[in-house]
Amino acid sequence: MKKELTCIACPLGCTVTVTLKGKEIISVEGNTCPRGKEYAITECIAPVRTVTTTVKCTDGSLVAVKTARPIPKDKMMEAMRIINYTVATLPISVGDVIIEELFGSSVVATAEKQ
Ligand code: SF4
Repeated sequence: MKKELTCIACPLGCTVTVTLKGKEIISVEGNTCPRGKEYAITECIAPVRTVTTTVKCTDGSLVAVKTARPIPKDKMMEAMRIINYTVATLPISVGDVIIEELFGSSVVATAEKQ
């Protein structure tokens, strides 16, 4: 079976074709760099995504956050539920850890809030 993917590892968006035999990856073609091959293999075996969203602050405003590392794609909805129940204590600096552990990553602030 052939699976065609658009690589999202950089803005070029190369079309990468993965040939699979069952769950085994036979070949990866179309990538123009090693990151594309790595992306395609991960996408076929265990897809991951970086979550970017906002968290409520103690004063009711919102602060931008993201997962420090990509998390399993099938955990994104559960991750969003946890993030939506989180309230961050002000003041917040860029890089502050808002949630320590979320499916193998932390959630960090990407903006400042006083
Ligand atoms: S294969 Fe390489 S160059 Fe192409 S989109 Fe992916 S990361 Fe970018």
